[in-house]
Amino acid sequence: MATIEFSKLVDKLQQHYGAPAPPPSTDPLELIIWENIAYLANDRRRAEAFAILKRTIGTRPEQILGAQQSALVAIGKAGILPDVSAEKLLTIAKIAYEEFDSDLRSALKKPLPRARKALKRSPSIGDPGAEKILLFTRSYPVMALDSNGFRVLCRVGFAEEQKNYSATYRLVQDAIHEQLPRDCDSLIPAHQLLRQHGQELCKRSKPRCADCPLSDDCNYSRRG
Ligand code: SF4
Repeated sequence: MATIEFSKLVDKLQQHYGAPAPPPSTDPLELIIWENIAYLANDRRRAEAFAILKRTIGTRPEQILGAQQSALVAIGKAGILPDVSAEKLLTIAKIAYEEFDSDLRSALKKPLPRARKALKRSPSIGDPGAEKILLFTRSYPVMALDSNGFRVLCRVGFAEEQKNYSATYRLVQDAIHEQLPRDCDSLIPAHQLLRQHGQELCKRSKPRCADCPLSDDCNYSRRG
């Protein structure tokens, strides 16, 4: 069991890191593109690739479908598997164009399960990714967790890690549900701070517990 409340945990992270960076976009299609543009690229390289796409091709489905495949592959070289990334961008654009009339925003106005399902039509978007887009677009105040934030909450003690990622993800969500703020203005920085903490201190291997603002409240740290 966690010995710290969710809001207190977020406060401590904010004191440590300061105000978090805003999401890369508030548009659902751009957020899907962001996830797929450069496989396994870090945030800086992903941002560079995204900026080049916006400047040279555009992010509308028609613009991506009309682009030279070689230009999309060149952008995908910010990550590994650029050919795969280019194919994914074309698939995303095709789905948006053919199934959503190039306007994913209208799909997000549907009830939550249908909005989530619409986003999951695109490559690399599972439940956590769909929830992040619903949050960043301010469509629904859901506490999306990426793998970094998820790892932090598990280690602090909100859930015991199971073999199955989805099962653990739901356990964490159930554990924090009653403590969550109900507005996107609070949930978006909470998501960003948890992610930053997982990237910078609470890394997958060798977490830097000695430098961590949560060490007094963390089960993993207490177990040594
Ligand atoms: S004390 Fe260690 S394990 Fe716990 S949240 Fe901090 S870095 Fe992660």
